[in-house]
Amino acid sequence: MNKENFKWEIIGHRQIVHFLQKSIKSDKLSHAYLFIGPEGIGKTKTAEYFAASLFCQETPSFSFSSSSRHDVMPATRGEEEKARGFIPCKKCVFCQQVFKKIHPDLIWIKKEEGKKNISIEQIRNLRERLSREAFLSFYKVAIIEEAETLNKDGWNALLKTLEEPSRKTIIILIASNFKNLPATIISRCQAIKFLLVSRREIYNYFIKNLNFSDKKAEILSHLSRGRPGLAVKFIKDENLLEKYEIETKSFFDIIGKDKLKDRFNFLDTIVKPKTDFLEARESFQNLLSIWILALRDCLLIKTSNSEFIVNNFVKKDLDSLASNYSLPEIKSLMREFIQTKNYLYYNINPRLAVENLIIKF
Ligand SMILES: [Zn+2]
Repeated sequence: MNKENFKWEIIGHRQIVHFLQKSIKSDKLSHAYLFIGPEGIGKTKTAEYFAASLFCQETPSFSFSSSSRHDVMPATRGEEEKARGFIPCKKCVFCQQVFKKIHPDLIWIKKEEGKKNISIEQIRNLRERLSREAFLSFYKVAIIEEAETLNKDGWNALLKTLEEPSRKTIIILIASNFKNLPATIISRCQAIKFLLVSRREIYNYFIKNLNFSDKKAEILSHLSRGRPGLAVKFIKDENLLEKYEIETKSFFDIIGKDKLKDRFNFLDTIVKPKTDFLEARESFQNLLSIWILALRDCLLIKTSNSEFIVNNFVKKDLDSLASNYSLPEIKSLMREFIQTKNYLYYNINPRLAVENLIIKF
């Protein structure tokens, strides 16, 4: 099996993807993995492709020491033809079941809607299902999303499963951070840390794989803030570009107001004052990403690179901003905006932080 045969539609995380593919290829799989990283970064998607690659009919069985993984439902094609297909092929019955989340040997565990925790019953049920023989494949895989929401009883039940590893069982825990994860669990898993994906990688993916226009790729890659999952959300949102233009204009509307009070009031119309903390933080992070893009355009105009700007619909406003400020001033504003956007990942008041920025003009 060549490395080239794998085709995982994952944005970024090249090393992780390569490592997991190599593990499948050499049949050196851990019994438990822990995928750690911020929400929307691609952990669940990677787990899904990992599982699909284990179950896919295109995956040659020669690398597995035990009996063929497709004993139950042997592949109809010859090895030679199979070697040309992608892994996962996304066409065979196994792949389709994985991506529809109905493969009998792939167990998805997720906190039920409206509940605070993954329940102990869900873990007991998981243990029960893992103890049975695999139906269609050599492996049984369990993917536990938001593992940090397991409670003490849940962890204890899961620990038992991790302590009695079976050759045929792979458990993938997905969590946004190590907090709330017992050390006894972490030590039994192969931890894989997912980092934010670079904007360039997201941009390139949009251009190469989704045939986006340069402008759309530029805007979306900025808005996704290192988390491809966010970009996917935006792609599905048909009103995105309209909203985007309104929020870009809001930047010039705000700094065009002389009185600070008017600026703050205007800010309230963009993000309502009583919005809860997490939602407000999300909105302000988004708003700052859009405003940073406007400042970036301003910087491009200032350095005679106007042809690269993305916000042509506010070209006049950009021009006047560029003529009112010196290059060092714009650079320093840009730095402060980026810094503030980064601060918003911590528990600081997002509104105060943004108010602090808009008084600088
Ligand atoms: Zn397949």
